Amino acid sequence: MSHLESLFEQDRAHFMHPSTHAHDHASGALPGKIITGGSGVHIRDHQGREYLDAFAGLYCVNVGYGRDEIAEAIYRQAKELAYYHTYVGHSSEAIIELSTRVIGWAPQGMKKVYYGMSGSDANETQIKLVRYYNNVLGRPQKKKIISRQRGYHGSGIMTGSLTGLASFHQHFDLPAPDIKHAACPHFYKAPAGMDEAAFVRHCVEDLERLIQAEGPDTVAAFIGEPVMGTGGIIVPPAGYWEAIQAVLAKYDILLIADEVVCAFGRLGDRMGSQRYGMRPDLITTAKGLTSAYAPLSAVIVGEKVWDVIDSASARDGAMGHGWTYSGHPICAAAALANLDILERENLTANAAEVGAYLNRQLRQAFEGHPLVGEVRGDGMLAAIEFMADREARTPFDPALKVGPKVSAACLERGMIARAMPHGDILGFAPPLVLSQAQADEIVGIAKAAVDTVANEVL
Ligand SMILES: *Cc1c(COP(=O)(O)O)cnc(C)c1O
Repeated sequence: MSHLESLFEQDRAHFMHPSTHAHDHASGALPGKIITGGSGVHIRDHQGREYLDAFAGLYCVNVGYGRDEIAEAIYRQAKELAYYHTYVGHSSEAIIELSTRVIGWAPQGMKKVYYGMSGSDANETQIKLVRYYNNVLGRPQKKKIISRQRGYHGSGIMTGSLTGLASFHQHFDLPAPDIKHAACPHFYKAPAGMDEAAFVRHCVEDLERLIQAEGPDTVAAFIGEPVMGTGGIIVPPAGYWEAIQAVLAKYDILLIADEVVCAFGRLGDRMGSQRYGMRPDLITTAKGLTSAYAPLSAVIVGEKVWDVIDSASARDGAMGHGWTYSGHPICAAAALANLDILERENLTANAAEVGAYLNRQLRQAFEGHPLVGEVRGDGMLAAIEFMADREARTPFDPALKVGPKVSAACLERGMIARAMPHGDILGFAPPLVLSQAQADEIVGIAKAAVDTVANEVL
């Protein structure tokens, strides 16, 4: 048996993969892939094949693969000080510098940064902060959190509850009772005859009805991604966030912006909050913070919540919340080097420019295509949604696996585009270093792949 065959055999025998069909993987029916390297927007597999990664891993490798500068920053930090905890006021130089840098990327009114290792643990922290805040304020009944159908906020017990996708609830006894889901702001799926403004009113009324049904004094927070990611790359209709925020203000409900995908330039703005006029009380970031060179998440706490935490400490002492790896020096060093690259190479501006180009070219190539219902996106995020009947907006039978087939046809042609988990949607979230020529390559390969699958299923 070759070394490679032995690796695959061990993989099937002992490695429990996330979000993977257990039996198909173990039996070998699901062909595995070992990734061996990457450079720029490309990765390489065990056969030496190169792929244009039009999904940047999982929308996270924003500065692209193979950046020596980040690798060296990690190495230097590991040599100097690999680890010390940050409890009881301990710090390292990198994490101090990073906190100031993160506040600089955030919208106005943000005060403090709390660190974890993943988007899920960061949202777990958010839920705890929301509870703490209301308990300190003497409102122990104000605990419920509203997220949205098709929102994605992680896969823990509470964060998986926030996630509005059934596959993340099945067999886990989720969602937890204090988590409620409001309508998804996908205008394309609006009731027939509704214009965009009417659809925004429809979303707002749905939220207000939910708040009234639960009791406004029991609803503590609303969490949302500026642009939805895993739920299908859904751009909110014009005026949506302004209208939602008016309802939250009316009922004294905190806003948590889950910026795990959108922050650090992906939408062509520093964060999604600035792009969509959001004034969050709390912000969640992770993926783009280090471009995934090391696992790090940051919860950004606004002044309003911070003031309550600050005043509570005089009476109640330290808040009992901490991870062993909060503020890990190696991850902080990776984040600093990543932000250096983002700023020096103007990658936010590149995301705005090349992202707009990519979205324009995708629209031109696919609008009116017999397999395609909608083309949508913002900045360096885009999606194509496939429909069995584009006029009637009838989806395909999920058993036909149209989305996964198109994704597989892209892969055969040397490009990774993600079949999103809900509906037949092909998602694009390339590294922010994408060039215009590479955007053309993405559109060309996607066109060939979609045409092939259209011939097969229509
Ligand atoms: C990926 C993601 C998370 C969860 O992050 P993990 O690091 O996978 O735990 C949370 N929110 C959003 C919007 C995400 O895209």
